[in-house]
Amino acid sequence: MSTKNRTKRVMTLGGVFPPVLVVDLAGRPVHWAHWQEAVRHYVLEQIAWTVGDPASVVRGGIQMNGERSRVHLHPVIALHGVNGGVFEDYTPALSNPALFARDRYRCLYCGSDLSARRALATRDHVIPISRGGPDRWANVATACRACNSRKDDRTPEEAGLRLLAVPYAPNYAEHLILENRRILADQMVFLAKRVPRRRHTTN
Ligand SMILES: [Zn+2]
Repeated sequence: MSTKNRTKRVMTLGGVFPPVLVVDLAGRPVHWAHWQEAVRHYVLEQIAWTVGDPASVVRGGIQMNGERSRVHLHPVIALHGVNGGVFEDYTPALSNPALFARDRYRCLYCGSDLSARRALATRDHVIPISRGGPDRWANVATACRACNSRKDDRTPEEAGLRLLAVPYAPNYAEHLILENRRILADQMVFLAKRVPRRRHTTN
């Protein structure tokens, strides 16, 4: 493998190994670390505790004793000297991919599953912008093209539509869940505890 290829592979989130979840000593999430960063924390002995069985083994160079070094990467690592508290009031930036991920590619009006037809997903403003509705998490919903054009410049009530779930702003833990497509079960369990229980249906 050339140096160029190696550089390219570690540029992606997690690279060849699944990303490791970095948390502070209180268990507050900090960020996803790609495997190279995680290895550095192991080597520098910055890890206070870990969660889960090692998900991957990184093989290093040959050591003086002739043995090949190896580092076992755990799904969650708690580091000295980091502070997850700064993300307690974090609200992720609103974007279409983040919005569609929040709503799991489901139209919040007719309920149709758009995950296999992503081009049909649109950002709907529950209170239309033309009527003073803000472009913020609590006022946006994933809508299929048909529902969006039926709704037009009207409120759901005026258009005879009903929201299937209450729009909300994801917190930081949920943002991390939505951001990582290769999330491990131990990481999901850890982060899910920090996602507030919400009433997802209006029924
Ligand atoms: Zn729809």
